[in-house]
Amino acid sequence: MKIRDILKNKKPSVSFEVFPPKKDAAFAPVKAAVARLCKANPSFMSVTYGAGGSANMNTLDIASFIKDECNTTPLAHLTCVMATPDKIKDEAARLTAAGIENILALRGDMPSDATIPPPGHFTHAIDLIKMLRELGDFCIGGACYPECHPECEHLADDIRHIREKVDAGLDFITTQMFFDNDVYYRYLAKLRDAGITIPVIPGIMPVTNKKQLPRITKISEAFLPMRFKAIADRFGDDPDQMLNAGVAYATDQIIDLFANGVNAVHVYTMNQPIVAERIMANLGSIVAK
Ligand code: FAD
Repeated sequence: MKIRDILKNKKPSVSFEVFPPKKDAAFAPVKAAVARLCKANPSFMSVTYGAGGSANMNTLDIASFIKDECNTTPLAHLTCVMATPDKIKDEAARLTAAGIENILALRGDMPSDATIPPPGHFTHAIDLIKMLRELGDFCIGGACYPECHPECEHLADDIRHIREKVDAGLDFITTQMFFDNDVYYRYLAKLRDAGITIPVIPGIMPVTNKKQLPRITKISEAFLPMRFKAIADRFGDDPDQMLNAGVAYATDQIIDLFANGVNAVHVYTMNQPIVAERIMANLGSIVAK
């Protein structure tokens, strides 16, 4: 099923993100986690893609597993940094052959061991979006950044680039994680002012381990409210308490988003079924079954 059709549902729904096994790592634990996550009834499940890495076939394998064995709609991430048009054509053909209709089209970040980019390589996600539009009848999503993409100096410029991606053919955009819903509401108002009318799915990261925080701040540069920091300070050294507090904080964010008119939320599960299951249990009858 195409995610653009799922998003027409007026009842609140939650989707999940997972990452595939890295390189030659075992598939079984990831598949077991994915199968459990699917049982928690997400509206769809996205699978990340390692930019320029060698584990990218694993994204297709896990997306196919989600579709064929878990009976859940998959969203395959695809990055274009360091890729040639021929490589993207191959990837799109593989996704089509596997019956995967939904792609999150991303630039990705240059790998740290990157050499000279190949001739004809892609510089921005918009080039990938344009190409995918020509290659098949995909439902295409993109990324957006409520607190501005780290490489862009001004939010207004970043939003102009998002508008260009939308005009190139996006069906929806998913946000980078944020921990203060007001950041999302202000951003959504700016996107709407810029003429962007497609769904903007908020990305929620349940923080259930204090050790996640430095990486989260590094990749997202997200503002951490005092209320959030106090939780990490008070409960961060006890894994069970931090799990309870992190699930409660994420649930609170999601309920506030639904209460304010949002219909679809994406949860970065970090392949942890327990976290997703407990959030879904907290939401109960609020979300579509
Ligand atoms: P772009 O849209 O190309 O934007 C990148 C930067 O370029 C921005 O600063 C933008 O303002 C600027 N820009 C865009 N167009 C132009 C232009 N024409 N001229 C000048 N500047 C321009 N990474 C992975 O490797 N794998 C994943 O699976 C993955 N999943 C993600 C999922 C979500 C929901 C999000 C939010 C991010 C994800 N990322 C993933 C991270 C993402 O790849 C990085 O944030 C990357 O730096 C930017 O990707 P993009 O698609 O937003 O790029």
